[in-house]
Amino acid sequence: MRFGMINGRAVVVHDDRALDIERASEGRFSSRMVDALEHWDALLDWARRVTFDLADTFVPGDLGAVVDAPRQVFAVGLNYREHAEEANTTTPDEPLVFTKFPTSIVGPTATVELPSENVDWEAELVVVIGQYTYRVDAEKAWDHVAGLTAGQDLSERTVQLAGPVPQFSMGKSFPGFGPVGPVFVTVDEFDDPDSLDISCSVDGDVLQSASTSQMIFGVTELVSKLSYVCPLLPGDLIFTGTPSGVGMARQPARYLAPNSTLVTTIEHIGELRNRLVAEESTR
Ligand code: ZN
Repeated sequence: MRFGMINGRAVVVHDDRALDIERASEGRFSSRMVDALEHWDALLDWARRVTFDLADTFVPGDLGAVVDAPRQVFAVGLNYREHAEEANTTTPDEPLVFTKFPTSIVGPTATVELPSENVDWEAELVVVIGQYTYRVDAEKAWDHVAGLTAGQDLSERTVQLAGPVPQFSMGKSFPGFGPVGPVFVTVDEFDDPDSLDISCSVDGDVLQSASTSQMIFGVTELVSKLSYVCPLLPGDLIFTGTPSGVGMARQPARYLAPNSTLVTTIEHIGELRNRLVAEESTR
């Protein structure tokens, strides 16, 4: 099953049709994704039996962020060996965790303002939490995942690297710095949810291309380890880290230019297509 948001309302998606969850369920489930996910098992059961005859058609540009207002957004740094190597660091023994503040989360076709000339790309698999998760072992972790989606962990490297230690959360939380979507896909839809092709390109130039099977800490390990510190809530997002190929590590460094289009793709999920503009141009 595929879920998303259109016009600020939770929908279940089938091909090019989207069914409004609140209306089609006659109010049983909320139009807000975080609230609808509070009843994840019942929602999934309902969505499996629903008919799309009366569903509206939609185009990709109609879709917003898959969760409109997540309460917590986790992100993991240096979770691919080759990316840790290009960043000139050792591979972590434990997940390196920070947050992207929730105001940075936008939809799959959002236009993003560049606050500087040092904004970098990071294609990432993003986990959507489906139920309250506290101190859950890795073997049980998939049961707590509503689905998987694609994300970009856009990163302003000057702010990130200004202090004596990196300010990941600040450099990665400008408005628009967390595109997610286009939909989240339930785990049962994947042949192997731990092995998905992931890539991103700018104006057709492929910059990152890898498999999520190369993650140092996989999805279940991340969910479990996070949950042993803090409860994970329905609708929470986990950015699971980026593969190698970021702009900062290139010789010379390369960053996102105004009036370019960043396309981020994950197998079986779909693509983000984000236009980048200079900050002034939208003011
Ligand atoms: Zn990242």
